[in-house]
Amino acid sequence: MKKGILFVVSGPSGCGKGTVLAQVLQDPNLYYSVSATTRSMREGEVDGVNYQFLDRAQFETLIENDGMLEHAEYCGNYYGTPRKPVEEHLAAGHHVVLEIDVVGAMHVKEKCPDAVLLFLMPPSIDVLKKRLVGRGTESPDVVEKRVAQAEREIQCAHQYDYAVVNDVLEDAVADVRAIIRAEECRTK
Ligand code: 5GP
Repeated sequence: MKKGILFVVSGPSGCGKGTVLAQVLQDPNLYYSVSATTRSMREGEVDGVNYQFLDRAQFETLIENDGMLEHAEYCGNYYGTPRKPVEEHLAAGHHVVLEIDVVGAMHVKEKCPDAVLLFLMPPSIDVLKKRLVGRGTESPDVVEKRVAQAEREIQCAHQYDYAVVNDVLEDAVADVRAIIRAEECRTK
């Protein structure tokens, strides 16, 4: 059986990544990899849906047993991609989507050179800022921090195989679907 393709999707906070992915992931042949973390669960989060919530000992055991495809420490907590479900789905011919940050994406590229890296861009920094302010979930100083972080992340976009601008949602979804289709038709 033909193996599935590993897709890594990154993009700054507020670029609409979650909305685009929610539509793309309606395709039953795509498996969304749920990351593991040691941070505590936020209100509204569901174990096994938003993250797989583990304690540090469980996470460290997984690292020692090579159970993580990649992992990183962020603000004192571990985050990582559990290897087993990713490999099982790829072997079963399903495509796997990882939604991880730029650093994690580069680690995956090193370990899995066949992975396809896709960067989702806001149309402009101004639009990103307006979306973050409009969301109303962050204070003005956090918005500024996220905008500054977004500018740094966007500078890494050239290291990705594809960049999709999320201006009109339907167009961005169509672009991502077209990339998946093109990769399925690739000769090597
Ligand atoms: P949060 O605590 O806000 O959910 O996530 C904090 C950071 O961890 C974000 O930058 C997010 O992209 C990153 N993150 C989430 N899952 C993973 C993962 O599986 N691997 C890596 N390397 N980073 C992750």
